[in-house]
Formats: sequence, structure tokens, C-alpha cells
Amino acid sequence: MPGVRDFSGKVVAVTGASSGIGEATALAFARAGASVALAARRTERIEALAARIAGDGGEAIAITADVGDESQANAFVRGAHERFGRLDVLVNNAGVMLLGPIEGAPTEEWRRMIDVNIMGVLYCTHAALPLMRGQGGGDIINVSSVGGRVLGRYSGVYSLTKFGIGAFSEALRQENLATGIRVTLIEPGRVETELRTHVREEVIREIGGAFAGVEPLEADDVAEAILYAAGQPKHVSISEILLRPSNSPM
Ligand code: NDP
Repeated sequence: MPGVRDFSGKVVAVTGASSGIGEATALAFARAGASVALAARRTERIEALAARIAGDGGEAIAITADVGDESQANAFVRGAHERFGRLDVLVNNAGVMLLGPIEGAPTEEWRRMIDVNIMGVLYCTHAALPLMRGQGGGDIINVSSVGGRVLGRYSGVYSLTKFGIGAFSEALRQENLATGIRVTLIEPGRVETELRTHVREEVIREIGGAFAGVEPLEADDVAEAILYAAGQPKHVSISEILLRPSNSPM
């Protein structure tokens, strides 16, 4: 299937661009010629990334935002559009994975996952839809997880959020058959990023062995899948990409 690798003139907004998959995706789009808007809470990280992209001859803007807050999510998406005059790709990537048993869980962890992994995606999408519709189309790329298809103990609420994003993405796709807006769900298996560093120590101790010997994906591998989807010709919609480490049991 022919796809483009030249995103010159395109505008791409990436949430969770301060590390891991979001950072790699923003860099990959910038290298492919796109202007990129970067969102995360850690201002210094996204500003440093924007400076790096500018130093390489690219164009980037850093907008500090907690995507779980509707007004901040809105301000990010609108800010990207105002700065660059259009919005071609929204990568809803920001996420947290606070694994643990359901019984006795600190319920604050559940709220954080629901706020970021679900509400963040919904708010950014809500803000992007009229902008993309107004220009005749765009791509909304939602980063889910293999945990949005396969269940295991201790991932009850994380998987709840990722299964939910799968359901939301398919409804969104069907509502946009005539608008030119495509929807893609990206479902990575284990990727070497900061994601697991936020899991409580006692939980890590219990599940630590589950991935023994697995050579994780790199953030760049996932970025590559995202660019593949966004680079397809207009009549091709890549609805779903599941990518896993080759020797991973899940
Ligand atoms: P990282 O922890 O490296 O990156 C997570 C990003 O999300 C950071 O940039 C973080 O920025 C941002 N983020 C977290 N909370 C918020 C918030 N409230 N508002 C805005 N941004 C926020 O992990 P990954 O790169 O691995 O994760 C990216 C996505 O990939 C997530 O959705 C995750 O669920 C998914 N994924 C990851 C897998 C893995 O094994 N790593 C496997 C499958 C899916 P900051 O803290 O500065 O706000």
C-alpha cells in the first residue's frame, strides 16, 4: 500500500509529547516535514523538544496542558490550530498506567487513569472535530494498548480505559464516514518508556516476572506505525494497528 512520508505543510498535534511514544512521534512527524504542536504537563520537557525540532530546521510549539482538564485540552487543540492555521493529525497519546489489584486500590489512581486516558482523548477529540471538518478532513489517532484487547489481573481499570477508547474510536469512525476525518486505533504491546515507573513498587514486585525475557518495542517503532496510518492516501483508512514485541506472550 503506497503511503507518503512527506508531511510538509501538515500540522500535527501530539499529547503526551514530553516522553516515550509521544516524544518519538512528534520527532518523527517533524523530521517528515510537519509542523508539530506538543502538549504535556512538564513544560521544560516539551519546550526543550520544541527547541530541538527548531534547531533541526523544523517547526514546533509547546503548549503546557493537563489533558484531563477540559479547558486546558481545548486550549491546546485550538492553540495548535491558531498557531499553524490548520490541524491535520491529532495524536491522542497521553496516558497513565497505574496497575494494581482492584480491592484496596487508591481510588485516586482510578480517577487519574479515567481523566487522562479517557477524558483527555474525548476533550481533545471534541475540540479537534469542528476544526478538521471545517478544512475537509484529518486524522485522529488514538493510542490504546494491547491492554485494550487482552486482559490480565491488575490491569482492570487501565484496561477499562483502553477498551473504552477502542469503543469510542469505532463510533467516531462511523460518525465521520462523510467528513474526511479518519480514525485509527494504535495498540502497542510493551514499549520501553517511563510508563511503568509510575506503578507502585509492591505491584511491580508481583508482576515483574510477567515480561521476563521479552525484548520490548521502542517508542520509535510505535511512532513508525502512527506515521504509516497518517500517511495513507485519502481513500485508505487504517482502523487498527496491534504491534507487539515478537516474543511477548501478550
Ligand atoms: P510515558 O510515561 O513515557 O509517556 C506518557 C506521556 O503522557 C508523557 O508525555 C506524560 O507527560 C503524558 N501525560 C500523562 N498525564 C498527562 C496529563 N494529565 N496531561 C497531559 N499529558 C499527560 O509512557 P508511554 O510513552 O509509554 O505512553 C504513551 C501512551 O502509550 C499511553 O497512552 C500508554 O497507555 C500507551 N501505551 C504504552 C505502552 C508501554 O508499554 N509503554 C504499551 C501500550 C500502550 P507529563 O507527565 O509531562 O504530563
